[in-house]
Amino acid sequence: EKFKDGLAKTRDSFAGKMNDLMARYRKVDEDFFEELEELLIGADVGVETVMELIDELKTEAKRQNIKDTSELAPLISEKLADKLDKSGEDNTIQHAADGMTVILFVGVNGVGKTTTIGKVAQKYKEEGSRVVMAAGDTFRAGAIEQLEEWGNQVGVDVVKQQAGSDPAAVMYDAIQSARSKGANVLLCDTAGRLQNKVNLMKELEKVKRVIQREIPEAPHEVLLVLDATTGQNAMSQAKTFQEATDVSGIVLTKLDGTAKGGIVLAVRNELDIPVKFVGLGERAEDLQPFDSNQFVYSLFK
Ligand code: GDP
Repeated sequence: EKFKDGLAKTRDSFAGKMNDLMARYRKVDEDFFEELEELLIGADVGVETVMELIDELKTEAKRQNIKDTSELAPLISEKLADKLDKSGEDNTIQHAADGMTVILFVGVNGVGKTTTIGKVAQKYKEEGSRVVMAAGDTFRAGAIEQLEEWGNQVGVDVVKQQAGSDPAAVMYDAIQSARSKGANVLLCDTAGRLQNKVNLMKELEKVKRVIQREIPEAPHEVLLVLDATTGQNAMSQAKTFQEATDVSGIVLTKLDGTAKGGIVLAVRNELDIPVKFVGLGERAEDLQPFDSNQFVYSLFK
C-alpha cells in the first residue's frame, strides 16, 4: 500500500501511457517497439537499460512467436522486474556481527540526506535499538541544527561540533560518545558538496579512516542518497560518489514527487549498487525498504 500510494504519480503517467500504447497497437511490430522505447526513456528508465529491455523483448517475442501486444504486456513487467532483481543480491542493511553498526550517509545537498537519517533513526528507535547520530555535515549552513531537530523529534542524541569543524573529529567524538552510551547504531551525516571532487574524496577518506581506526570493519554501510526528481542528474552524481568512495547501497528519495519513477531501474541496472530504501513521502514511515516486485506491481495496477 505504501508503494502504491507513493508511486501514484508515476503509475498515473506510466500506466496511462502504456494503456494508450496498447490500445493504439494491436500488432507487435517495429513501430510499436519504437514507441515503447520512447515511453520508457520518457519515464527516466535510462537509455542503456531501455535498449537492453527492448532487445530482450524483441528476442523473446520472436522466440515465443508473440504477435499481439496484449500477449507481450506480461512480458514487459516481467523484464522490468528482472532489471531490478539481481540474483543473490542482498538489499537489506548490513549490521555489525556484534557491537555497534556504523552507517555513513553520503550525497549532494538537498537530496534528502538529513531527512533520511532522521527517518532511519526513528526506525531503529522503534525497533528498540539505541541510536546516536553524528552531525558530520559541518559545511552546509543549518545542517547541524536540522539533524538536532530530528534528534529531538525522534528522541535520539546528536553528537556535534561547531559549524566548519573537521567532520573526522566529529566522527571520532561520536564513536566515543556512542560507545559510552552503549549505542548499537551510529548514523553519520556527511557534507555533500560536489563542486570539488578531490576535496570530497579526501574528506570521505579521512572520515572513514577515523571510523576504521576505532572500528576496523566499519562503516558497515555507505548509503548514497539520491533524489529521484533529478532524473539522469542523479545518475551522474552517483558516478561521482562511486569514484570518491565505496558505496554499498542507495537510498532513492522523493519518488512520491515524480512521475518518472523509472529512474529506479536506471539506478539499479546501470550502477550495480542495490537500492536499499526508497523515500515515498516526508514522514518517517514513508521511508520503505526497497521491494522490486512491489515496485513493478505498483507501476501497472
Ligand atoms: P539534505 O540537504 O540532503 O540533507 O536534504 P534534506 O534532508 O534537508 O531534504 C530536503 C527536502 O526534501 C526536505 O524538505 C525534505 O522534507 C524533503 N524530502 C526528503 N525525502 C523526501 C521524500 O522521500 N519525499 C518527499 N516528498 N520529500 C522528501
